[in-house]
Amino acid sequence: MQKGAIRVQTENIFPIIKKFLYSDHDIFLRELVSNAVDATQKLKTLASVGEVKGDIGNIDVTVTLDKEKKTITISDRGVGMTAEEVDKYINQVAFSGAEEFVKKYKGQGDGANIIGHFGLGFYSSFMVSSQVEIFTRSWRPEAKAVRWECDGSPEYQLEETEKAERGTDIVLHINEESEEFLDEHRIRTILEKFCRFLPVPIRFEDKQINNTTPAWVKKPSELSAEDYQNFYKELYPFAEPPLFWIHLNVDYPFNLTGILYFPKITKSYEIQKDKINLYSNQVYVTDEVKDIVPEFLMLLHGVIDSPDIPLNVSRSYLQGDPNVKKINAHITKKVADKLDEMFRNDRKAFEEKWEHTGLFVKYGMMTDDKFLDKANKFHVFSEVSGDKFYTLEEYRTATAPLQTNKENKLVILYVTNPVQQDSYVQAAKAKGYTVVKLDTMVDAAFINQMEAKWENVQFTRVDADIADNLINADAQAQSVLSEEQEGKLKELFGAQLQQPNIKVELKGLNAQEQPVIVTRSEFMRRMKDMAAMGGSA
Ligand code: ADP
Ligand code: MG
Repeated sequence: MQKGAIRVQTENIFPIIKKFLYSDHDIFLRELVSNAVDATQKLKTLASVGEVKGDIGNIDVTVTLDKEKKTITISDRGVGMTAEEVDKYINQVAFSGAEEFVKKYKGQGDGANIIGHFGLGFYSSFMVSSQVEIFTRSWRPEAKAVRWECDGSPEYQLEETEKAERGTDIVLHINEESEEFLDEHRIRTILEKFCRFLPVPIRFEDKQINNTTPAWVKKPSELSAEDYQNFYKELYPFAEPPLFWIHLNVDYPFNLTGILYFPKITKSYEIQKDKINLYSNQVYVTDEVKDIVPEFLMLLHGVIDSPDIPLNVSRSYLQGDPNVKKINAHITKKVADKLDEMFRNDRKAFEEKWEHTGLFVKYGMMTDDKFLDKANKFHVFSEVSGDKFYTLEEYRTATAPLQTNKENKLVILYVTNPVQQDSYVQAAKAKGYTVVKLDTMVDAAFINQMEAKWENVQFTRVDADIADNLINADAQAQSVLSEEQEGKLKELFGAQLQQPNIKVELKGLNAQEQPVIVTRSEFMRRMKDMAAMGGSA
């Protein structure tokens, strides 16, 4: 029997760990199960390089609950620890054996896929335990089994014990305040949340709770469209099938895998944020992926996995982290490239999905200038009837010189409500104008932003006083009314519409034209729309 004091710099690190390390107490299970997985992966690595001889046997990790004894036990058949290793890795708080192992075995077997980083995870067990016991036997043939015990004070006990099998059992004696964890349902829920895709089988009450090879860890070339769709169903059983997806797979200069799905979204109530889950080596970390995923892609669904993002992420940490910035930029680029590829490879299919993808693309163009540069090539305007689509350049070519105004700007004519504004559309069409549909929830903001970002472009709603501002206005039929007559009509219509800022014309008629057109300046209309939105356009 050996007795000693745990060596820590601070007087007593436990209160600090308990209070500040993790605000979420559920985390203890994630930490202990991921340590068990690490130990198992290490064993597999040692077996693959021939250091561990013979059959490694069943390597499942099991979690057991004993309500009577008020214990939760996490057992693995991994590398185990010798007495010296317990002293080194457990007694020395914040000495991470995981990091040491990764350095030694980098590039061999599963050696690099170790979850631990800081050497603090084990101590999260004291958030919920009044006492913790470790029963462990190292894989080394000559090693003796040891038992370690600690009640959360800086004193521990270490002694030899009997243990037939290689591996480690961590026994948590759950404290009074944490008895909520002595509940099967609670344990299963936590395991399903954090351990759902861990790479080693995890069993609770004889049932395996995880899928050890989720789609994102496989190579894109191994997966069919159906595999991607099935994985989406596994993540979101009740969602409609996704539109398309992007498989992320980078290992330099940072590690990143994952699959991002584009959901079908057309209406605002269908928007669900926080649908992307962040993993680190297949351990669930969080669904708050702000900063890692660009703002405009927060509506995507799926999984990203990066061991370069530590498990105990905090908001302030993420913002300043250079890897996080790089990952963010990489995701933006991948999404832009994918859209560009779809646009070039199958334009028709791209246009059919525009109703859904347009939302992301427009958000992205407004908020990210790098994305804007790329998106200019594949952003399209839908012609009002919906059967023709134009990129900005195509629209410019198709409408020149008719839709160029006196300042030599391209005038994009649009409708916000194709039904209500139909008579104006017909009038515009009769004049040879091309009217596009900008009727989604982002379009008002999109129009304002793009006028600032795109050079020489002006948006004008189809019921604005367009003809006046277009170069070709002179060539159009002149109003057949005298100035005095126009003034009278204007008074009449103005009083009726309760709108002083209108213009009334009666023009040389042809069959398709409306006899009288009442318009309002684009500026006045936007001012009114903004006021209606509380000025927050
Ligand atoms: P980290 O996992 O970040 O290294 P932990 O505090 O979670 O830090 O664990 C500290 C160390 O204790 C591990 O690196 C490992 O060497 C050892 N350890 C913990 N749990 C086990 C286990 N189940 N089997 C073998 N070694 C373990
Ligand atoms: Mg750990």
